[in-house]
Amino acid sequence: MPEDAPVGIDSLSHESRSFPPSSEFVKDAVARPSLYLEAERDRLEFWRARAQLLSWKKQFTEVLDWSNPPFAKWFADGTLNAAHNCVDRHVDAGHGAQVALLAEYEDGTDARFTFAEVKDEISRMANVLTDMGVTTGDRVAIYLPMIPEAVFAMLACARIGAPHSVVFGGFSADALRSRIEDAEAKVVITADGQFRRGKAMPLKPAVDEALAGGAPSVTGVLVVRRTGGEVAWTEGRDQWWHELREGASTEHEPVWVDAEHPLFILYTSGTTGKPKGIVHSTGGYLTQASYTHRVVFDLKPSTDVYWCTADVGWVTGHSYVVYGPMANRTTQVIYEGTPDTPHQGRWWEIVQKYGVSLFYSSPTAIRTAMKWGEEIPGKFDLSSLRLLGSVGESINPEAWMWYRRVIGGDRCPIVDTWWQTETGAIMVSPLPGVTNAKPGSAQVPLPGVVADVVNDAGEPVGDGQGGYLVLSEPWPSMLRGIWGDPERFQETYWSRFPGKYFAGDGARKDEDGDIWLLGRVDDVMNVSGHRLSTTEIESALVSHPWVAEAAVVGANDETTGQAPVAFVILRGGTEAEVAAGGGEDAASEALRQHVGKEIGPIAKPKKVLLVTELPKTRSGKIMRRLLRDVAENRTIGDTQTLADSSVMDLIQQGLTGKR
Ligand code: ATP
Ligand code: MG
Repeated sequence: MPEDAPVGIDSLSHESRSFPPSSEFVKDAVARPSLYLEAERDRLEFWRARAQLLSWKKQFTEVLDWSNPPFAKWFADGTLNAAHNCVDRHVDAGHGAQVALLAEYEDGTDARFTFAEVKDEISRMANVLTDMGVTTGDRVAIYLPMIPEAVFAMLACARIGAPHSVVFGGFSADALRSRIEDAEAKVVITADGQFRRGKAMPLKPAVDEALAGGAPSVTGVLVVRRTGGEVAWTEGRDQWWHELREGASTEHEPVWVDAEHPLFILYTSGTTGKPKGIVHSTGGYLTQASYTHRVVFDLKPSTDVYWCTADVGWVTGHSYVVYGPMANRTTQVIYEGTPDTPHQGRWWEIVQKYGVSLFYSSPTAIRTAMKWGEEIPGKFDLSSLRLLGSVGESINPEAWMWYRRVIGGDRCPIVDTWWQTETGAIMVSPLPGVTNAKPGSAQVPLPGVVADVVNDAGEPVGDGQGGYLVLSEPWPSMLRGIWGDPERFQETYWSRFPGKYFAGDGARKDEDGDIWLLGRVDDVMNVSGHRLSTTEIESALVSHPWVAEAAVVGANDETTGQAPVAFVILRGGTEAEVAAGGGEDAASEALRQHVGKEIGPIAKPKKVLLVTELPKTRSGKIMRRLLRDVAENRTIGDTQTLADSSVMDLIQQGLTGKR
């Protein structure tokens, strides 16, 4: 190939397995093939019709104003309220007695809230926040565990049109302070503490610390009592929710806001660097969150029990715990604790307890369950499940197959959903009941979404080729910007390929034109002039029966420029086989050869290192940049968003033989 020819990313893997939907599923499926045709015929009319899934106080006339790209306005002259759409209108339509939230606490106790009860709770909290001086447009920081009050807090803010900024309850005081300061929040909603692995852990001290060191915008702190532990108190600033709740009215008129009014700010996971404060709108965001939740999860509001395992601290918890499901009148589980407290079957026990039918989780969780072994889910009745979803990273084909067989009983369709904090809602995904599913591929842009894979020059690649995933047309739930930084918004997302949104992810189109995510372009490596993605080499490793999880990075190499280095976690129960095969060194060599055989000698890792943990963000994504530091013997970079900082020590000790 001549030096200056446009290139993409080399693509090495092949997948021939395909799973058509069962005729039974097709019969009642919410999604229809005609949706694609409808969207192709007239994309804006398609979105106009989807916006009618919502209730508008004032109907909009114009669907999209794209006169000043990349600043989009959707449904701009319409007014609505997100909390009214998620709660009040269901109560008004006679569904007040339907259960909205099935709250499962870590210790096995539980609580349920009907839509009518949620309406009362969020109205009370909206009144309390108003009394604390919060008005439309003010920002409110939410720093809570996964308890119903987290949902109430978000919807209470939405009711008064006060954009919330949810900060994951596992973040430090510093991380909290920087987010509060960036958004200039007026009030913080938190709890005294949270239960984590059977222990009461304090939460409020982190707020006290964050506010002591800065964040002058905050005038009040609303504290939910969860653990009942002792808390320090700042008079005049701190207020107990349970005390103010007593005197608060359940009457509250939602504030009708313009469709473009910001619903929330949310900081990205920080996998690649410093988190960005992503701003989302009300009307466009809610339209796409509810439409995608309905068609991608095949939601039947009166019969399904849905469970998305994401924390509300992440975008998945915003769009697919709070806004999408609640706008669609879903009965759903929310779970406070960790997957292995008090035992490694906790999640499957919850599926059995509530008869969960729709289950949405992440590749990291699935691979962890693989590591623990399939006898654990095997102990529970999972027959209520009828659909499984995945989000957050590429799901390796073998992890997909495991998910389908062990959790889905070979019966449930799987939806591998690609999207980002920035996109607000699912963009690329199979439609259950319509698409023939392919293990490991997110497959097709949803109806109404225009996505493509392009080469360095921004030209669409042909089938069978790799490149960069771009979104070529605006979409309703697109980010409206980075809080306070319009230039960074343009620069980060719209400058690489003019006129197109570039997501930062590599992708390829296979022979059928289906889209495969190849990982972040920052992680692409150049091996003797071949541009290789991390995902395909990782998937080749996970296809070996000993491997539960793998992370691959490109490390400097004198002869090839860069060379793949793999970090691998073995599946539980393989120890005897590994020992019989000659121990860890022999296993590493066997895995190197396996990659060579699966996808070709060029991708064969220079080294395969067996480890017991991988560095992950708190949302469970592998942080390859830290592993690259290890592979290249550098000082480890910024670990602020790392879930467990001891992991890097463990890995380095293992490598230097200090184990
Ligand atoms: P930061 O942008 O701060 O580095 P982040 O990208 O991890 O953090 P999120 O918005 O939570 O923050 O994650 C979106 C990213 O997750 C996508 O860009 C993609 O890399 C990955 N991702 C999400 N879903 C999928 C999927 N189904 N397949 C492959 N990758 C996915
Ligand atoms: Mg990102």
